[in-house]
Amino acid sequence: MAAVEAAATQSDIDVSQSKLTFVDEIRTDRLDTLWKTTLAFVLILAWLLLILAASSSDADASDLVLPVIFTVVASLATRFFLKADRYHVATWAYSLGLIASASSLTIPESPDLNTAAPMIGILIIFIIGMLLSVKETVLLVFLMYLSMILPAWILRGEIPVTTTGGFGLVLMAVATLLVTQVSGELFSIAEWALESYRKERETATKLHESRAEVEKSLLKQKNLTMQLQQINEELDEARRAAELAKQFRGQFLANMSHELRTPLNAIIGFSETMLNFPMMYDNVPLPKEYHQDLERIYNSGRHLLGIINDILDLSKIDVGRLEVEIQPVDLEPILKGLLSTGVGLIATKPIELRRETPEKMPMVLGDPLRVRQVLLNLLSNAAKFTEEGAITFKVVPEDERVIVSVSDTGPGIPPEHHESIFQAFQQGESGRKMKREGSGLGLAISKELLTLMNGDIWLESEVGKGSTFYVSFPRYMHDPNAEWETAEEHAS
Ligand code: ADP
Repeated sequence: MAAVEAAATQSDIDVSQSKLTFVDEIRTDRLDTLWKTTLAFVLILAWLLLILAASSSDADASDLVLPVIFTVVASLATRFFLKADRYHVATWAYSLGLIASASSLTIPESPDLNTAAPMIGILIIFIIGMLLSVKETVLLVFLMYLSMILPAWILRGEIPVTTTGGFGLVLMAVATLLVTQVSGELFSIAEWALESYRKERETATKLHESRAEVEKSLLKQKNLTMQLQQINEELDEARRAAELAKQFRGQFLANMSHELRTPLNAIIGFSETMLNFPMMYDNVPLPKEYHQDLERIYNSGRHLLGIINDILDLSKIDVGRLEVEIQPVDLEPILKGLLSTGVGLIATKPIELRRETPEKMPMVLGDPLRVRQVLLNLLSNAAKFTEEGAITFKVVPEDERVIVSVSDTGPGIPPEHHESIFQAFQQGESGRKMKREGSGLGLAISKELLTLMNGDIWLESEVGKGSTFYVSFPRYMHDPNAEWETAEEHAS
């Protein structure tokens, strides 16, 4: 608040200062003209008087030396102070010089000059009254009166006032009155005019500046629009290139996966046959020493096939060729199958496999194979990362959706990985620790599949306590198991 007031006061000072400068500027111009005119006038007058004095015997030219000197000195002093930017001192130097000049006319014993002195004084008051304030003008007249009487009285011992001179002094008083009256009003009018002019000049400058600003911002805006247009075009181009690259990548992955699957199926098939079907080899049993390595070949083959299948899915998603067949899906058989697969996945780990499902299982809309794929991925992740505790399947039917969740008591996932693990080839900390166990594709594919089935996937997890992955599917509205549906049917 104080700062605002201070700023306001400061700006007032600035305005008044600039006003003073401006008014003084005008007056300075006037005074500049005046001293030049006075100097020229007095010099010409002095020259004329010299010629006159030379031709006439009664005129004494020496009487005029002092007034001329005073006037010349006053003019030069005025010039000096004006140059030094001291307007007031210059005005007073000019005024006092002229008064001294008029006063020096009263010193010689010449009735002509003594009479002329007050008349010249009147003229001086008229001239200077326009340059000074009313108070200063009155002070000047007072000085003028003193200068008309005192010097002659002191030097000659007599008051040099003739009848005409006395009349001149009375006229001087009238002139003062007139000047103060007129100049007072003139001053306010002039000040007002000057102030208006100053304001107008200020407004014009501001307007000019604002126009320049507006023009500048228009230009800037134009430039920005052009830049934006260019960036948009570049973005369009980049998007087209990215889409093309994505399609190429998809096509390449699809071809490569396909080519890899044929030999891989042979590896898996033959190793499985060698392990489990000795009758294919005329019942010649496989030496025990070969068993472990062959099992490794078989398991690695299966693992590789899983990854290749995932890549194939992802590439199909990339080129928009992965299709899902949406239909009503009964979750019960899928869940049953998953639970028995889960037993195998947990193997010997001390993990309890639980299910918390409603008595009447709700139906969902989706592609049964893909629904199973998504849930199996969540289950195998839970089994892979959990060492002990429990894995729980939960089904919660809502009005228009069904939420299936898989919770585990595994290591948990730090919050900073909650989003990235849904991106292809991204593994969280737990995934990196078991580097060879996964590809980082499962959750990315699940997310894409759920998008295709109008579903969603998200998680809640606390490091050290476990994770819960939620999957939502659209609920099948004509599900005979849904309570509201049954109630409606009853009503009809
Ligand atoms: P991956 O083949 O690596 O399992 P996913 O896409 O299925 O690929 O999972 C991505 C990452 O998410 C995993 O590497 C792992 O770090 C993390 N993750 C997924 N499920 C779990 C879980 N139940 N517990 C802990 N971490 C998990």
